[in-house]
Amino acid sequence: MPEPSDVVIVGSGPAGLTAAIYTARANLRPLVIEGEPSSTSDQPGGQLMLTTEVENYPGFVDGIMGPDLMAQFRGQAERFGTEFVARKVGRVDLTRRPFGLWIDDTTAAEPDLLANALIVATGAQSLMLHVPGEDLLLGHGVSTCATCDGFFFREQDIAVVGGGDSALEEALFLTRFARSVTVVHRRKELRASKIMQDRAFANEKIHFRWSAVVTEVVGDAKVAGVKVRDVVSGEEEILAVTGLFVAIGHVPNTAVFAGQLDMDEAGYIRTGAGTTTNVEGVFACGDVQDHIYRQAVTAAGSGCMAAIDVERWLEGQKAV
Ligand code: NAP
Repeated sequence: MPEPSDVVIVGSGPAGLTAAIYTARANLRPLVIEGEPSSTSDQPGGQLMLTTEVENYPGFVDGIMGPDLMAQFRGQAERFGTEFVARKVGRVDLTRRPFGLWIDDTTAAEPDLLANALIVATGAQSLMLHVPGEDLLLGHGVSTCATCDGFFFREQDIAVVGGGDSALEEALFLTRFARSVTVVHRRKELRASKIMQDRAFANEKIHFRWSAVVTEVVGDAKVAGVKVRDVVSGEEEILAVTGLFVAIGHVPNTAVFAGQLDMDEAGYIRTGAGTTTNVEGVFACGDVQDHIYRQAVTAAGSGCMAAIDVERWLEGQKAV
């Protein structure tokens, strides 16, 4: 049996690594299971690894590239003694004490790792279109976050894909910068709430391309256009835009905790006071429990909260 760690942190985005910095500095020798470098969807470092320039993370007057920011987070966590495992968690048992964690898809009866306390910081992923050009141009005109990237599209014509509240919220926000925003939606009716629809329809910068799907993002080094197909006529055209915001929803990375941690209908972990979950000794932070703010700085803030919650909880356990 392995020796139990005081705290195991699953996830290596801003939430997980901030939790690591704080727990390491509290002498809890955290172990971070950071994910696998081979996978694009949940590579170590979280969603900022898929971003180019980050201009809204406080402390960087001139901005910083997403991967560089995450390298700084990681280095800082390492400096205080955080250990990293570059693998994925395949299974957990939160009914036993210490908690049991299995790495990858093993069928072994005994867990690979034991944890007295657990911090879940596995984040969420934006749903993507999976069309040609999208991957290549992500961070070069393709974005999943208007708050993060809208500023780069001053006086440009851009498109948003999706018909829900997120898409309209992104579109409305983008009108502060863009010359025009075309919302591309695959049906004729929006899924978004009435109030958001009213706001979008009233905004003269927002246009709609109804019953259309994006089939390709065009461009070599940056977005030069978006190819759409009319789902009724089958006709294709290229929208002359320099940016595409994909806003078709998010999925939290919580499958491995299903049935053990309480989640909402969309699969986000429910947290109570601070970062507590329904299982005592398990804490959740960052986008895995937040579908509202989704910012690196809010994730980092909640990672700090989880670390302090863990520290206090472990202290309390000693006193029992
Ligand atoms: P959502 O409500 O699930 O909407 C996703 C939209 O993307 C739908 O219009 C869907 O089309 C479209 N879509 C999905 N897959 C697609 C694909 N492969 N290609 C093209 N289009 C695709 O997701 P959301 O907008 O992110 O909202 C999630 C939840 O958060 C909702 O409950 C929403 O109300 C809430 N939210 C609220 C606010 C707010 O109140 N300010 C802001 C953001 C989000 P169909 O309509 O055809 O299915």
